[in-house]
Amino acid sequence: MSSSDYYKELGISRDATQEEIKAAYRKNALQYHPDKNQGNPEATEKFKKISQAYEILGDEEKRRHYDQYGTHDPRAAGFGSSSGGAGSFSSMEEALRTFMHAFGGGGGNDSVFDSFFGGGGSEEAGGQQGASKKINVTLSFEEAVKGVEKEASVTNYVCCNTCNGLGAASANGVKKCPACRGCGQIHQTRGFFSMSSVCHQCYGQGKTITDPCKTCHGTGRVKKKQTVPIKIPAGVDTGMRLRMSEYGDVGERGGPAGDLYIFITVKPHNVFQRDGDNVIVEFPISFVEASLGCKKEIPTPTGENVRISIPDGTQSGKILRVKGGGFPNVRGKSKGDLLIKLLIETPIRLTSNQKDLLKKFQELETERNNPLQGNFSEKVKVFFSE
Ligand SMILES: [Zn+2]
Ligand SMILES: [Zn+2]
Repeated sequence: MSSSDYYKELGISRDATQEEIKAAYRKNALQYHPDKNQGNPEATEKFKKISQAYEILGDEEKRRHYDQYGTHDPRAAGFGSSSGGAGSFSSMEEALRTFMHAFGGGGGNDSVFDSFFGGGGSEEAGGQQGASKKINVTLSFEEAVKGVEKEASVTNYVCCNTCNGLGAASANGVKKCPACRGCGQIHQTRGFFSMSSVCHQCYGQGKTITDPCKTCHGTGRVKKKQTVPIKIPAGVDTGMRLRMSEYGDVGERGGPAGDLYIFITVKPHNVFQRDGDNVIVEFPISFVEASLGCKKEIPTPTGENVRISIPDGTQSGKILRVKGGGFPNVRGKSKGDLLIKLLIETPIRLTSNQKDLLKKFQELETERNNPLQGNFSEKVKVFFSE
């Protein structure tokens, strides 16, 4: 009989400390817990396996035995008459018990556990928290500049109207949990130790439903397709995430709702480029306009044009700045700028008349017209004389 590699199962090395083993088990258990994976037999199997692994590795004596013999003999370790033998947990019951022993001590300092179970433990805490959801929203460049309201279709668990989230057909259908006698905690004595853990039948609520609501089968919630209005603020960018509090699934039996996360993608624009809150636009002008100066209407990301003066003698690559012409900052009141990068276009397909005029111009050209060229030859001269 071969037993599985418990270290591999938990994704840890053979010299892991007890803390590392517990942390690895918690991480895996929260992912594969049956409450989070309803209708997923693979996850259920995995949950059983990691629980089995933790049951052995989390106990120094059983771990030593396992390390030495490569297997775990349930009888030798005083594990009772587990029918599944060394290979795996036979029942989910055992796996859940391991989980509860590991994390259900009710110490209240285990934040992962608390969030997973909706902060259970107190009588009034209600059911566990519902799952959070994620949706992707793609915006045009213009929508990102101005902000936009959209609607998303989300299928969520919502509160059952028939029973108001109670889960029971009538108020009389809610009874004290028989497993914990209503206190929400299970006390057990194991050898010298007395342990208390959150009751896994009622998740610490102390109540159980004897007369389940027909609409929601006792869960207190039903699936429903909903249209959710989403207000996207101006200035968002690709990779940003908005959180809409309590727009996720409601929890079972009146448990608090999870959140809805909106992942933003902004489509690129074919004229404007974004650099943080600034927007860059490359704007071509003719060499005559650059030489003589001109006035131009420049498009802006909001769709309105802005009129700018380009001074005479403008060089190629010059950047003009329109203050506040960029994106509003999504977190503050500031605004980015619009940066206009001027590209000076060399004319092509000249007529013979145009060529004659340019030749005449060339004859009249002096060094004063092209100071960069003069500077350049000066620099080269200095370089070779040194
Ligand atoms: Zn109901
Ligand atoms: Zn209980």
